[in-house]
Amino acid sequence: MKVLYDLLDDFLSLLFPRICYGCGNHLMRNEDVICVECRVVIPQTGYHSIPGNPVEQLFWGRCMISKAAAFSFYNRGSRIRKLIHALKYKGIKEIGTELGSIYGSSLKSSGFLDGIDRIIPVPLHTSKERSRGFNQSRIISEGIASVTGIRVLNDALVRPVRTQTQTRRSRYERWTNVEGIFKVSAAESLTGKHILLVDDVITTGSTIEACVNELLKIDGVSVSVVSLAYAVM
Ligand SMILES: [Zn+2]
Repeated sequence: MKVLYDLLDDFLSLLFPRICYGCGNHLMRNEDVICVECRVVIPQTGYHSIPGNPVEQLFWGRCMISKAAAFSFYNRGSRIRKLIHALKYKGIKEIGTELGSIYGSSLKSSGFLDGIDRIIPVPLHTSKERSRGFNQSRIISEGIASVTGIRVLNDALVRPVRTQTQTRRSRYERWTNVEGIFKVSAAESLTGKHILLVDDVITTGSTIEACVNELLKIDGVSVSVVSLAYAVM
């Protein structure tokens, strides 16, 4: 039966080849969404095991965070960039879930998630989420949750104010552009919790900073931060 099934599987993959979103090569039978080679060459930062790492340093003197890390470097032309692009602009959500679960496993086994009570994805403005059809940070959060069991709170933080695109702005301009754009919607349920804030790409950190400052208004809350990629400025 297994042989028959494999034959059928091979036949179907000839008709409908499954392609890796990182490199465009055909996926093998035992591969899913991202091929083994792409998984190996992703330039992982390892920051979750390095206290005081560059992502944490990015927030020093700006906002109080407990810990911060990023899965990969966001290099020009890199496969992780291609993967995140396919997630955001081609709507291939499996990429977010897959990368989220890969990262979630590393975060969990390193102890980075010890003490984390809830996961909150960085929200998109409703109109942006509607036009894209989803929030990529939410998909990544669900991937992390799938291997850690930590609950994701999707509506705890909202983004009622629409901002202009962040590209070509200085750090100060970006900061003033995002300050006060996030609102906490269910403060009571977050009292005393350690929250893991999840984003797709960290660049200047202004968006995260605005989220953290809003969350820290709640009694006894502490915040840690992770993203799939870190773009070194
Ligand atoms: Zn690949």
